Amino acid sequence: MSNPSAWKRYISAVGGKPAPEFARFAARYNVATSIEGLQIVGFSDATQEAYNAAMQAALAYSALEALNKALSDKRGTRHLPDPALAKNYRASSSTKLREFLMASVDNKALIGRLASLASDEANDDVLPVAEGIRHLMFHGDFTAHGAGAAQSKATRGFISSLADAILVRANSNFELYLDREALGAWQVTRLAKCPSCKVTQGELHTGACEIGLCHTHGERRSDCMGDGKHAATRYWGVYPGTIEALKRGWTVKQGKQVLPDINRVMVELEWDPATESHQSK
Ligand SMILES: [Zn+2]
Ligand SMILES: [Zn+2]
Repeated sequence: MSNPSAWKRYISAVGGKPAPEFARFAARYNVATSIEGLQIVGFSDATQEAYNAAMQAALAYSALEALNKALSDKRGTRHLPDPALAKNYRASSSTKLREFLMASVDNKALIGRLASLASDEANDDVLPVAEGIRHLMFHGDFTAHGAGAAQSKATRGFISSLADAILVRANSNFELYLDREALGAWQVTRLAKCPSCKVTQGELHTGACEIGLCHTHGERRSDCMGDGKHAATRYWGVYPGTIEALKRGWTVKQGKQVLPDINRVMVELEWDPATESHQSK
């Protein structure tokens, strides 16, 4: 059993009373990370492994689905770009899986997304594969042989890696949500508007803003090597770096005030454009 890594932080921030929709996400995440070695009597090891991998992918997808529901529409993850997995899905070793999904899935929009992933090398969103597996698993229409997973170790490996990628994403999306909402065991005041450019939470800082960062580099936009051509970051109610510092317990004293150590964030962490936050190197 393992909870999302930021679960304790969330529980303490909400005084031990998780919202039901987040509890549902955590429960599904727990199950998805705990499935290992389902015993199916009378099946070969390879076939059992295939069903295990498919079950992991289905449960991982439903955990992500629960998280998407718990978060508001705009914050959920409807795409999972993964170039390596997408390449794997287009490889000849996945032919049977591709054909199986196309023939078995009955949702038109999903079929379109699967077809695009299979044929368009610029498309690396592998989430529809997991969505397809989830539908078929939970409706009892998935067969390890039909999907080629009983016969092919590569296919089993692909499905299992897909499950892992989804769980990693769900885990980091949950933590990112807590960061954006400044939910933690510390006091922080979020200001409704950026003190410099006056945009509201979730909006892009404007060009002349002195608080927003360069989306590409995470530096002040006036220092940006891209001559200010790089996009600005979004405003989330606090000075950039605040949450990264507080959740690591990095503070500095200034007179009687204890402030987040943003310098340390800049020096010791690495900018991640995808989440517009500083992450451990
Ligand atoms: Zn601003
Ligand atoms: Zn830049």
